[in-house]
Amino acid sequence: MLTQRPRGMHDILPQEASLWHEIEEAARRICARYGFSEVRTPILEHTELFQRGVGENTDIVEKEMYTFNDRGGRSMTLRPEGTAGAVRAYVEHKFYGGPQPVKWFYLGPMFRYERPQAGRQRQFHQFGVEVFGVADPAVDAEVIALGLDFVEDIGLKGLRLELNSVGCSQCRPVYRERLLAYYRPLREQLCEDCQDRLERNPLRLLDCKRETCKALAQRAPRIGEALCDECRAHDEGLHRHLDAAGIAYEINPRLVRGLDYYTRTAFEVVEEGIGAQGTVLGGGRYNGLVEELGGPSVPGIGFAAGLERLILALEQRRGEGASEAGVDVFGIALGDEASVELTGWLRRLRALGCRAERGFEGKSLKAQLKAADRLGARWALILGEEERRRGVVIVKDLTGGEQRELPALELESWWKETEHGTGR
Ligand code: ATP
Ligand code: MG
Repeated sequence: MLTQRPRGMHDILPQEASLWHEIEEAARRICARYGFSEVRTPILEHTELFQRGVGENTDIVEKEMYTFNDRGGRSMTLRPEGTAGAVRAYVEHKFYGGPQPVKWFYLGPMFRYERPQAGRQRQFHQFGVEVFGVADPAVDAEVIALGLDFVEDIGLKGLRLELNSVGCSQCRPVYRERLLAYYRPLREQLCEDCQDRLERNPLRLLDCKRETCKALAQRAPRIGEALCDECRAHDEGLHRHLDAAGIAYEINPRLVRGLDYYTRTAFEVVEEGIGAQGTVLGGGRYNGLVEELGGPSVPGIGFAAGLERLILALEQRRGEGASEAGVDVFGIALGDEASVELTGWLRRLRALGCRAERGFEGKSLKAQLKAADRLGARWALILGEEERRRGVVIVKDLTGGEQRELPALELESWWKETEHGTGR
């Protein structure tokens, strides 16, 4: 137990960190382009927030939450997703009173007690965005475009965008009745979960992953035919915006978010290569959620992308091997006095932006050169006792092997010229 991480939770080791940085930087870069600002909410929230905000009839709330009582006896939950916390912050800090839309993004860990497998973990990371305060389908199109720009920016091309409308509180009840009428006679053929969900939340049956349920869902009535005029107009408006932006989409009538406060647009971005857990990004409009969580009636829309799944897809396409951090200078001291002096030189070089490493414990010149090589250092600075007494240092080019002597006092100007010369 002591030396084993919890099941479904992963260490992101230094050799993987640069890929994570790339992805996080891409998220920030694209959000800046679209005018989204970062929000950071707590990783723990009151359990009721998720019960209300994610919904009692969801897998997340029914069986996936990490919930516990804190020392004051209050039920707390590790956030399983980011929208509920963002909505809470929007309401708590009264952003609805300011100019709309409010456009936020978040990045960070989420927790769900699921069966771990490729692309499914118990701690995973999401990049997500939320837009509050505007119901115009132009916003839906911007949110979708942002999501696609993000996945393309990190190097994934040719992903499939699936789109649907789930209607609203006017038209969905009518559709729900049609679904019930279709499914009730088929009850015996449904999986146990779906039999269970049938009366409570028949829309959820449409995205069951079991083969028999999938086959039945294929022939189920489609929500597109049941939409009210406003929902249809919104949907058609979104299609026109997407067409104008050159964004291709596929209508998937079985793409649903089963809860009452999800309205109209639902979408997913699917990557074919990574198998069963192929949905890398999912989102939708939630015009009833802010009110459900104690705020005024304010429309909203957002998405969340699973970063581990994006990394899986990237690794498959690129082959492994994120780039190493890189080292400019490796300092080699031979002897105690030289070692002390090197400490001073390296600190001054680092202050100039030089990425500097050094050898420790008085290892031999050969061993230290090997260490420099292993790190891929560009230059070695060699300071032996004799050089130290003469006030010089040896600069060795580790790519060409050439070396020269330099007055130690000129090291900083040497670095400035070198850095300039390499155009870094
Ligand atoms: P799934 O159907 O795969 O369980 P979901 O509907 O639960 O997905 P959302 O709640 O919409 O997923 O979360 C958005 C994205 O977060 C998913 O598309 C996926 O990329 C990622 N994600 C969700 N759950 C996990 C998990 N347990 N491990 C890794 N990534 C996850
Ligand atoms: Mg899930």
